[in-house]
Order: sequence, then C-alpha cells, then structure tokens
Amino acid sequence: MSKLEGKVAVVTGASKGIGAAIAKALARDGAAVVVNYASSKAGADAVVEAITAAGGRAIAVQGDVTKAAQAHGLIEAAVTAFGRLDVLVNNSGIYEFAAIEEVTEEHYRRIFDVNVLGVLLATQAAAKQLGEGGSIVNISSAVTDVETPTTAVYTGTKGALNAISGVLANELAPRRIRVNVVSPGFVVTEGTHTAGIAGSEMEAGFVAQTPLGRSGQPDDIAGVVAFLASDDARWVTGEVINASGGIR
Ligand code: NAP
Repeated sequence: MSKLEGKVAVVTGASKGIGAAIAKALARDGAAVVVNYASSKAGADAVVEAITAAGGRAIAVQGDVTKAAQAHGLIEAAVTAFGRLDVLVNNSGIYEFAAIEEVTEEHYRRIFDVNVLGVLLATQAAAKQLGEGGSIVNISSAVTDVETPTTAVYTGTKGALNAISGVLANELAPRRIRVNVVSPGFVVTEGTHTAGIAGSEMEAGFVAQTPLGRSGQPDDIAGVVAFLASDDARWVTGEVINASGGIR
C-alpha cells in the first residue's frame, strides 16, 4: 500500500513551484489532494490534470490564505470533496528582498501577511478537522540559518514560522497531531525566476555556499514533505529539517 493511501491533504500555494511538486508527490503516494491557488487558476488546473492523468485524485480550490474566510473555505472544500483531512502543507509564501533602508510598512505587512498570518489562519481551520495521526508541514527556509543580507523581513517571517511551528507541535501533540518544518535552500521555481533571483549573482552565491554544489529543484523538497506527512514519520514532531543540499 502506498504510504499516503486513504489520506486527504491540502497544499497551499500549489499552482506552481515547490507547492505543485509537493501536491504531485503526495498524490503519487496515494493522498487525495486539494491544490490551492490564489491567482494562478491555469497553473492549479494543470497540476490537477497531471495528478488525475496519473490515476490520482485532486481538485483545485481558489483561496487567499491571508483572509480567514478563504483559508477556512479551503479546508472545508477538502472535507466536502474527500470527507476528511489528514495533512496540511503550508507552502504559500512570497519573497521580496530589500536593504534595511528600503523596507516599508507595506513591504513588511505584505510578506508577513502571507508567510505568517496565512499559516496561522489555514492551521486554525485545519486544526478543527485533523484527528489523531494528522500532520502539518510548514515550508520555511534555510535563510533562517544563512542570514543573507537584504532579507531581514523575509527571514523574519521564516524565523517566526519556525517558532510558531514549535509551539503548535507542543499545543497539538495531546491530540496526536504532528507539526514539522521543511526548510529549503535555494530552489529554481517560477517565483525565483519572477523575482529575478534564478540566474542572478544571488543564486550563484547560494550555490557556492551549498556543499552539494547546485541549486535545488522542487522535487528535492517534495519527497521530504511526503515523508513527514506519512506515518513513517509518526515519531517525528517539532522538527526543522533542512532540504538544502547542506547550506546552513
Ligand atoms: P512560487 O513559485 O512563487 O509559488 C508561490 C505559491 O504561493 C503560488 O502557488 C501562489 O499562488 C501561492 N500564494 C502566494 N500568495 C498566496 C496567498 N495569499 N494565498 C494563497 N496562496 C498564495 O514560490 P516557491 O519558490 O515555490 O516557494 C514556495 C514556498 O517555499 C514559499 O513559502 C517560499 O518562501 C519557500 N521557499 C522557497 C525557496 C526558493 O528558493 N524557491 C527557498 C526556501 C523557501 P498563485 O500563483 O495562485 O498566486
């Protein structure tokens, strides 16, 4: 039996990049998957098509995780479509970098809203549905260790996420719900292309600091998430796992 057979998962921000790879990996391992997107319907539909073409089960659900009603709607959609919820992957995230002189209130609020508030709202909704054996996986970043200049706000969101994950691992443990973090290093995605990081000197700098000597690909992250989502990781909670080629 596949390791996620019979389980139902929600992956936020699964229309592209790391989230899309995670959704496909969970489906490959047997889970029925809610593929969330904020604005990229075509991307989410393509992920659903790829999953169903491979014999899996998935639906695309629009929802902005920074809005409580929409974050809750996303979780309800999973229960309506598939009857239960076992796994939440909080992957939605945005990154914009700015030197400290350039940081604005707007920059701070936009990034913190998606990367921190969005996780809290989706987790709040999921916690009402998850039962014993439930798993929450939060996608943070190795930047919390690398401390790259110009990333103070983004790195701050991921440091907050690591701290929140540790708290929630303890808070939800009595209900036998696990909470873990996966921290990617640099990964080539639609987002890192749009942000101008892929192909830039910043990427070259990350690769130079990465012991395994290359940039990451979305699939490098997805398998680690699938492990944490599964019962193979039943004794693992409150952990931060770097999937980063060794950069730290
Ligand atoms: P990406 O290609 O830009 O994709 C981001 C995803 O997040 C998209 O599906 C997007 O949806 C969704 N999203 C954005 N705002 C949202 C909102 N308000 N509500 C719901 N979904 C929202 O990003 P990525 O590079 O794959 O990164 C994914 C995660 O990994 C992020 O948390 C990021 O911080 C983390 N990470 C990335 C790297 C890297 O190098 N790529 C490294 C470390 C950590 P729409 O497209 O539909 O708007």
